[in-house]
Amino acid sequence: MANKTYKIVTLPGDGIGPEIMAQAKRVLAAIGQAYDVDFVCQDHLIGGAAIDATRAAGEEVTALPQATLDAAKAADAVLLAAVGGPKWDDPTSPVRPEQGLLGIRKQLGLYLNLRPVRVYQALIGASTLKPEVLNGSDLLIVRELTGGLYFGRHDREHNVAGAAYGGGTGQKAVDSMEYSEYEVERVVRWAYDAAMRRKRHVISVDKANVLETSRLWREVTHRIAAEYPDVKSEDMLVDNTAMQLVANPRQFDVLVTENTFGDILSDEASMLTGSLGMLASASLGDGTALYEPSHGSAPDIAGRGIANPLAQILSVELMLRYSFQMDEAANALAAAVEGVLDDGWRTVDIADASTPQDRILGTEAMGTKVIDALA
Ligand code: NAD
Repeated sequence: MANKTYKIVTLPGDGIGPEIMAQAKRVLAAIGQAYDVDFVCQDHLIGGAAIDATRAAGEEVTALPQATLDAAKAADAVLLAAVGGPKWDDPTSPVRPEQGLLGIRKQLGLYLNLRPVRVYQALIGASTLKPEVLNGSDLLIVRELTGGLYFGRHDREHNVAGAAYGGGTGQKAVDSMEYSEYEVERVVRWAYDAAMRRKRHVISVDKANVLETSRLWREVTHRIAAEYPDVKSEDMLVDNTAMQLVANPRQFDVLVTENTFGDILSDEASMLTGSLGMLASASLGDGTALYEPSHGSAPDIAGRGIANPLAQILSVELMLRYSFQMDEAANALAAAVEGVLDDGWRTVDIADASTPQDRILGTEAMGTKVIDALA
């Protein structure tokens, strides 16, 4: 009988999803054994797989069956692979795979997204940036997920006097940006707690020289910063941050910001690594958290056993850290992945012209290497 039991809902989804999820589950089992924890994984349907299954069963066709949602809400964590593919790509179809993703994120009340960006020494050549700029970069982007511009009022007015080029009547559009203190506080507080477990440095990104929402963001952040005297706190304007991320990424530890800025900066930062197959993410709220790779379902390589399982495996690392407070196991897993890369093992997407053929592994063999490195 294990010391602890955690219920994990696993959502393999579509394309390479089932292949990479299988490796994540093997890794979880190995960690469970090493740390005396029972991870009980239960597969559920989402995305295209759910659409096909509900249609075949003659039920209401959906990308997010109620059973999946109920299980996710009752679980200790959700591990998702990816959804979508050409089979379900008809844009006029009323039911589409990504509805499963958006639906589960919304229903779980996930208000914070985490994107760690770690530059691996062994893969440093994969980035378009110079190795000497990247060397040692390891940052965590904390993005607010349910407020701001994307969830404000969106409106369009027609026949507005003076709105057309040249002065005639034309259209006008508005997107409003709103934040309440509470929405800022729960995200910033989380970022400071995370920083306490890392290098104790928070950079809060805003546009406080122009935006009122940013001025509120800054006030709340300063109030919280005062509660964490051991953490070095800085404010950085978003335009400067966009430059600093490529000029000197090493200066960042935890970067916390609102929804739109975070959306843009996290994509920019992901390019520091140059390899989509290595990027994990997490979305957290007050209940069950969701962990997933940043890439999609890669239908072009599905079923061939060559997909890179490392982003999915690194999603497990985040789950251990943030849902189960198993930092030691999470560190061991991160070190195992790094060790495998340092030894020269690659899946085809992260190989280059200098990689010997016998170092290029398939999905399962890469999973095995990580498990062996854990031992
Ligand atoms: P993608 O991320 O699936 O693939 C982009 C490229 O990267 C492809 O060449 C693919 O082979 C490669 N790639 C991605 N992950 C890989 C991995 N683990 N190992 C090796 N190679 C990998 O993006 P796309 O091609 O734009 O989208 C494909 C499908 O995925 C679409 O249906 C899209 O809607 C969906 N999608 C889903 C998610 C998600 O589930 N979160 C995110 C993005 C895209």
